[in-house]
Amino acid sequence: MSTCALPHAFISRMRESLQEEYEEFEDVLEGEAISSIRLHPVKAKGVENQLPLISSNVPWHPHAYYLRERPTFTLDPFYHAGTYYVQEAASMMLYQMCEFKDAVTILDLCAAPGGKSTLLAGAMPEGSFLVSNEVIANRTKILAENMSRWGNPATLILQNDPVAFQAMAEFFDYLIVDAPCSGEGLFRKDPQSRERWSESAVEACAARQKRILADALPSLKPGGYLIYSTCTFSPEENEEIIRWLLRSFPKELTLAPVPGLEKFGSIPLSLEGEAYAAYRCMPHKLQGEGLFISRLRKKGNTEAFSWIIPRPAKMDKTTSAFLATHTLPPSHLAAEVFQDKLFLRHPAHAQFHKKPFRIKANGLYAGKIHRMDVAPSHELALSEILRKDILPMWELTYEQAISYLRKEEIRIPPPKDKGWLLITYQGQALGWAKAVGKRSRNHFPVNWRIKKHTYRQ
Ligand code: SAM
Repeated sequence: MSTCALPHAFISRMRESLQEEYEEFEDVLEGEAISSIRLHPVKAKGVENQLPLISSNVPWHPHAYYLRERPTFTLDPFYHAGTYYVQEAASMMLYQMCEFKDAVTILDLCAAPGGKSTLLAGAMPEGSFLVSNEVIANRTKILAENMSRWGNPATLILQNDPVAFQAMAEFFDYLIVDAPCSGEGLFRKDPQSRERWSESAVEACAARQKRILADALPSLKPGGYLIYSTCTFSPEENEEIIRWLLRSFPKELTLAPVPGLEKFGSIPLSLEGEAYAAYRCMPHKLQGEGLFISRLRKKGNTEAFSWIIPRPAKMDKTTSAFLATHTLPPSHLAAEVFQDKLFLRHPAHAQFHKKPFRIKANGLYAGKIHRMDVAPSHELALSEILRKDILPMWELTYEQAISYLRKEEIRIPPPKDKGWLLITYQGQALGWAKAVGKRSRNHFPVNWRIKKHTYRQ
C-alpha cells in the first residue's frame, strides 16, 4: 500500500476514461507490484530450474517469468552473471512488435537503464547491430553496465541528443522510441512518481516526445519500423502523438498494426480507422504495469545492408591464440586491436566514428594485450561468446560467490598453470581470478562489487 496519494487531477481523468472500471483499476494500483525477470536466451539454458522464486510464465515473452516475491537481486550471483534481466512484464510487449527475420540495424533511442535494449539484444538475429543511446550522461553508466552484463558484442552505446541521428539518414531498420513520459503507469511500482506528476508535466512530455520523434525519424530506412512506447496512460502522450505523427509525416509514415495481442489482456486501440494500431496495457487487465505501444512503418523499401567483415587485424601469436581459446566469434564480428586493447565488433560500428557521436562503449572489449599474455576483461567473462568449454574454471558455492562479488579474497586452489581462472556459480561465469604464487587475486571490477552493508532482507 502506497503512502503517496494519487493526484486528484489524475483520478478525475482516469475516472472519466474508465467509467465503471475505475474502482477496480484504483484497487489494483494501490496493491503490490509484481516482479518479473527475462532470462538470457543463451546463458540461462539449463539453469531455469535453479532460479527458486520463479512462479509462472509471462505469456507474451518466451523467456520471461513472474517471481513469487521480490528478492534482493544484488545478493543473487545469477543477477551478476547476466543470467537474467529484471524487467517489468508489460514492457516486454515490445517482443511481440518485432518481426525479426534477417539481420537488422536497430536504434534504441531512449535506452537507459537497458530493459528494451537487452530484450532486443536477446531477440535480434545473428548479424544484427544494436545502437543503444541515452542522452543523460549519468544514466549511460547503468546502461553500459547492464549491457555488459547481458553480453551481446554486436552493440554500441552512445550518449547523444536524438537530433544527432540525422547524421545517419535511412540507416536503421528499427527505431525504438521508449519515450520519457509522465510515468502514470509506474504509480504502483514507484509511488514517488505520483509526486512528480501534474497536468502540465503531461503537456511538457507530449511536446518533448514530438521533438524526439521528429528529430530521429530521418534515421529510419524506408520500409523500416518505428515502435513508439510510453509507460503512461494519458492520450496526449500516446494516441495523440501517433495521430500527430501521421498528420505531420503523411508521405512517410503509415500505421503497421499488429493484430492478436489482445489475447494477453492488452487493450487494442483503433486509430484513424485502423484496428490494432496500438495497445494499452493496464494493471487491472494483465499482470504488469501501465504501457502504451504502437508500431508504424516508413513507406517504401530499401535493400538490407550487407556488412563486409574487414580482414582480421594483424595480430601476434599470443593474441590470436587468446582469441581462439577464449571466444566463439560469430561470423559477423571482426577482431580489432587498438593500442594494447583487443576488441570484437560488428563492422557497422565504424559508421559512428564521426561527429557528433559520443561513444560510451563499442562492441566487446575482450582484453589487454601484454608482451607474454592477454589479460581477459570482465566484459569477456560476461559475454555470450565466451568459450567456456575449454577454459580453466573454478566453481564456487553460494557463500563463496557472494564473497567473490564483494571482491574479498577467495580461497581457491591455485591453477596448475599459472594464470587465469574463470570463476563460475552453477556454471554461470561471474568473472576472473588469477593465481599469484600460492594465492589467487580476485579480478571482479571494484566499481561493480557488492557494497559492504548489503545483506539479505
Ligand atoms: N527504454 C528504457 C528501458 O526499457 O530500460 C527506459 C527509457 S525511459 C522510459 C526514457 C529515457 O529517455 C530515460 O532514460 C531518459 O533519460 C531519456 N530522455 C530524457 N530526455 C530525453 C530527450 N530529450 N531525448 C531523448 N531521451 C531522453
